[in-house]
Amino acid sequence: MFRALALRHCQLARSLATHAAPPTRSTSQATIRHDWKKEEIQAIYDTPLLELVFRSASVHRENNDPSKVQLCTLMNIKTGGCSEDCSYCSQSSRYATPTKASKLVDIEPVLEAARKAKENGSTRFCMGAAWRDLAGRKRGFEKILEMVSEVRGMGMEVCTTLGMLSPEQARRLKEAGLTAYNHNLDTSREFYPKVITTRSYDDRLDTITAVRDAGISVCSGGILGLGESHEDRVGLIHEVANMPEHPESFPVNALVPIPGTPLEGNDPVSVHILIRTIATARIAMPKTIIRLAAGRNTLNETEQAMCFMAGANAVFTGEQMLTTPCSPWDEDKAMMGRWGLDGMRSFEQVSVAKKEGARLEAEQSSKSSSPDFLTAPAS
Ligand code: SF4
Repeated sequence: MFRALALRHCQLARSLATHAAPPTRSTSQATIRHDWKKEEIQAIYDTPLLELVFRSASVHRENNDPSKVQLCTLMNIKTGGCSEDCSYCSQSSRYATPTKASKLVDIEPVLEAARKAKENGSTRFCMGAAWRDLAGRKRGFEKILEMVSEVRGMGMEVCTTLGMLSPEQARRLKEAGLTAYNHNLDTSREFYPKVITTRSYDDRLDTITAVRDAGISVCSGGILGLGESHEDRVGLIHEVANMPEHPESFPVNALVPIPGTPLEGNDPVSVHILIRTIATARIAMPKTIIRLAAGRNTLNETEQAMCFMAGANAVFTGEQMLTTPCSPWDEDKAMMGRWGLDGMRSFEQVSVAKKEGARLEAEQSSKSSSPDFLTAPAS
């Protein structure tokens, strides 16, 4: 009985915790660097693995609450038929894959999916559209702006991945309430042309700059298992860690080979490489959220726990990634419970909350009495 009461007390205390409260551990000593030399990052990456994880786990604890993992849900709002030639992607129209092209979905099913995600403890809702850019998609863009505004109105962090953006498009997304924009660099500058030829690394960087300049949080990471070398993984981390601001989010994907794509026969990336990459990214970018993305369902629970120990602090959860399987909420919440992990609140990451600025402050003061506004942690 006492144990049950104590447990309820803890849960209540958690649910009453201040929105976007800073981690309890001191962050004042954190050194955020943007001048990494490639050799320094390579030396970190080459550290014996357990030593590397010990070091990254220490950096993680100094800069983040290690008991928190953000649950995010991704919805494909426009599938397939993409003109780009990303050699890993089932949505490229250049490859004969099982993915069929469809039109942009209506607004209501998206809002329904976002509500369900929130009810299940996800605090970030991402929407992905398979196309090169928004050119000639005026009506579709207006629809997406409405989706963004509505999902943000639910008190969730809202993210989109819509291909290349102009500064004006980024500005309009920000106005609609967009929290974050995903635009992965995928791999190193050197290896990139072996994966994609229809747009350049600099095109990617231009969109990331437009997003950052609009005051939107940047989500940019990579895919492991493309056939890249250790140096390419280091090259990717070197690129993002030396940006003027570290991306607020660094997704780490493990390739899920899709029949019909040029990479269908690639060997799976080893869990050691995955952990090594996460740990290196954590040390180079101490406060960035490191998001375990596609391919997580191929890891067993202990392997996932090692990723969390190394510094990963977000997962995609729900029914499906863009076109690959995903772990469902109930399984993820049960797993997190076994390892003593809790879901992150929306806007708990300080750098993301800062970019929301006055809007978030106004929401907090007007709705602080409404427990509905704060998405409940997964526990
Ligand atoms: S990754 Fe995106 S841009 Fe590349 S082919 Fe797939 S949908 Fe198109």
